[in-house]
Amino acid sequence: MTDFERTPLLGLSQIELEEAITALQLPRFRARQLWRWVWRHGVTEFSDMTDLGKPVQMLLAQHFHADRPAVSRRQDSSDGTIKWLLRLHDGHEIEAVYIPDTDRGTLCISSQVGCTLTCTFCHTGTQRLVRNLDVAEICGQILLAMDELGDWPAGKPNRRLTNIVLMGMGEPLYNYDNVSAALKMIMSGEGIALSRRRITLSTSGILPEITRCGEELGVNLAISLHAVRDELRDVLVPINRKYKLASLLDTVRHYPGLSNARRVTWEYVMLAGVNDSEADAKALVKMIAGIPSKINLIPFNPWPGTDYVCSDDETIERFAKIVMKAGYASPVRTPRGRDILAACGQLKSDSVRLRASQMA
Ligand code: SAH
Ligand code: SF4
Repeated sequence: MTDFERTPLLGLSQIELEEAITALQLPRFRARQLWRWVWRHGVTEFSDMTDLGKPVQMLLAQHFHADRPAVSRRQDSSDGTIKWLLRLHDGHEIEAVYIPDTDRGTLCISSQVGCTLTCTFCHTGTQRLVRNLDVAEICGQILLAMDELGDWPAGKPNRRLTNIVLMGMGEPLYNYDNVSAALKMIMSGEGIALSRRRITLSTSGILPEITRCGEELGVNLAISLHAVRDELRDVLVPINRKYKLASLLDTVRHYPGLSNARRVTWEYVMLAGVNDSEADAKALVKMIAGIPSKINLIPFNPWPGTDYVCSDDETIERFAKIVMKAGYASPVRTPRGRDILAACGQLKSDSVRLRASQMA
């Protein structure tokens, strides 16, 4: 049997795995054992699953695999950030980034190859080729990172990966079914058991799915706001033409579980002369008043071919001061991994460049 015909275990929920196991005439408890090997211990070889007899190991190996995406390239930044360029089975590439901090280690994962949306300041949005990642590909980024960080068994003390953000390539709410299935598996108590409080989903504002996401997953929400006027947001984040600011605010205000202990994050990229005036800052704090919020000012990360320029330090500081005066602490996000093009919105640029140079 070729690899292609084997079923990826990383794409099967506990119930689906039980069904697949019983279809092979194996008892149900085998599914439980297999699940724990894969999700608790990170084991990929069936021969290492010591409580399964040889014949069972061989049968499983014929039908399943627990492969991760292949690492095309790993880059380590001087600040500890790690970026993996990952190759999927059809040759497409995505990126995942690990960002260590004093109190946490965050993995930023992708939800799509490219993105169908075309936010004008985002490099991912310029990529033509787009497809959804499947459940195994979304989970695979997390398991691969845990392999490389030495984080097995799941839940061990001093683990390096403690948080996940869906802020890589793609619009997660345009791939809602797969993203939600993957997150449920990552949150499962019999596996990695990552708390929903440690997962943040960032969206450009796909309103119907925002509410579903809150009801069904209960993860933290981050909104790519970037502008406080519809005319400007229509240009920067074109999905705004469909879902206007007023309805976005209304939806977020009613996001299930929002409280002072669980705030929504408003992401705001600082673009020189575009959205960085004092009037913008004042309008921003006025607009979100009454919604339990954090504000994240992101210095614009340039990429080859963009016309946008990052606001200067003084302007960012002035903007941040107004935001802080309104009661929001430490609003500026320090760019990480800039030396390896791993910062927000730079994803994919490096690999595209590399391929172009390889073709020359
Ligand atoms: N599609 C989702 C998640 C991926 S983008 C979304 O848009 O929210 C993750 C964050 O990076 C978003 O806030 C996005 O607006 C921001 N971003 C994109 N390009 C950027 C750039 N060049 N510099 C800084 N931030 C950028
Ligand atoms: Fe897509 Fe998000 Fe980039 Fe917009 S900012 S193009 S939604 S990845």
